[in-house]
Amino acid sequence: MEFVNRFAQALPELCHQQQPTALSEPEMVIVSQQSCQLLALDANFMASEQGLGLTAGQLLVDGMDPVSTVYAGHQFGGYSPQLGDGRALLLGELKTPQGEHWELQLKGSGLTPFSRQGDGKAVLRSSIREFLASEAMAALGIATTRALSLGVGGGEVRRERLEKEAMLLRFAPSHIRFGHFEYLYYQQQSGLLKRLIDFCLEHYFSDCLKQSNPVLAMLQQVVDSTALMIAKWQAEGFCHGVMNTDNMSILGLTIDYGPYGFLDDFNPRHICNHSDHHGRYAFDQQPAVGLWNLQRLAQALSDYVPSHQSEALWLRYQRVINQHYQMFMLNKLGLSKWQDQDESLLSGVLSLMAQQGLDYHSSLRSLAQPMAELPALLGEPWQAWLATYRARCAEAERDETQRCEAIQQHVPLYVLRNYLAQQAITAAEAGDYSELQTLHQILSQPFNPQKNAERFAAPPPHWGKCLEISCSS
Ligand code: AMP
Ligand code: MG
Repeated sequence: MEFVNRFAQALPELCHQQQPTALSEPEMVIVSQQSCQLLALDANFMASEQGLGLTAGQLLVDGMDPVSTVYAGHQFGGYSPQLGDGRALLLGELKTPQGEHWELQLKGSGLTPFSRQGDGKAVLRSSIREFLASEAMAALGIATTRALSLGVGGGEVRRERLEKEAMLLRFAPSHIRFGHFEYLYYQQQSGLLKRLIDFCLEHYFSDCLKQSNPVLAMLQQVVDSTALMIAKWQAEGFCHGVMNTDNMSILGLTIDYGPYGFLDDFNPRHICNHSDHHGRYAFDQQPAVGLWNLQRLAQALSDYVPSHQSEALWLRYQRVINQHYQMFMLNKLGLSKWQDQDESLLSGVLSLMAQQGLDYHSSLRSLAQPMAELPALLGEPWQAWLATYRARCAEAERDETQRCEAIQQHVPLYVLRNYLAQQAITAAEAGDYSELQTLHQILSQPFNPQKNAERFAAPPPHWGKCLEISCSS
């Protein structure tokens, strides 16, 4: 394994070098085989004592130089001048034989100078939630940080109750956040800000260097990737829960899984974060929050991109997010080419689900039935909409079988519902990781029916819809 540390070398002023605080009596809970493949890591290595040592913060591989990094961010609308990796360390960048670079981060790795009032630890419950979400999102085609492995320790930490401590190894091409730029901008560290920008341009946006204003070109790419990510969140019913600018990735990756949730019943106003009293990050607010957050990034880059140039990007954001969202939703209806009248077809199906409080995913998936059976299946309130849908499908190039197949390829059968995660967590807290491993396996192929997996496709029980998830993890 070859490790480099480009971020720490280029921007030591943003980094605090330190060692992880290892878990005591660690045990491996789960390893993602897909992640091993991406990293070109031998799955046997991760299953070995060394893999466990790495996941538990006991062992570093030659060439790793762990650091915590400082950043800032707008949290719930207000500026927090100093945040940072409070319980995560960037271990280094793994260089694969193909020449790809992947930053490895250990989350739950102990106190750092940025821990503020926190203890620097992560608990098993929240680490399982992050592991499952990272891998499930990737399987749905949503840009995300990934999870490699999760270990549990013998110690306990206090949250709302005493919980088992754990560590998660996660990875991404970069974990740079909007908040890294904001920190340097508001600190008026213009030289360092320039170096951070140059670092990003060189390593992640090198095609922008050819443009007359490379920083504007980079900002435009961030606008596009963020719009794509959020369009996909909306289409897949994903609610992030804490869209602060310190939780926004410069690469448009979904990052920092906390109180997130996938919709069960379709409620556009759904608030998944129990601590979000005013619904700032409610499901239907996410596209607008994404824009607001991008504007905070543009402010941090305003020495390089004057406001008259960034203005045009806000219209672009709206256009890009709408176009992606419309296509994703059209595909879920088994259709392929957007027509103007599809706007009302789409708003029609969403209002039906909202009015009747229907399950978002299974309602859409139920459309993958022969047209003749849909009226009886869906009931009276759907008849008018079904007539429009039938007429629209009749014009389309796809026949009945192709329409059903297309729906099945775009509407997942298995969704990471809170209650499924909770069942896996309860079993894992009692020392049984098999439920978690099965759930992870099923969610890695969310569209295809799998053997003995009916219960994972079932709608949530009442208790499962009422789980309260807060920021504390
Ligand atoms: P989040 O809302 O999870 O993105 O966290 C916001 C900030 O709080 C980040 O800088 C985290 O590193 C920090 N933080 C969250 N939980 C802890 C913890 N248990 N210990 C130390 N810092 C934490
Ligand atoms: Mg965070």
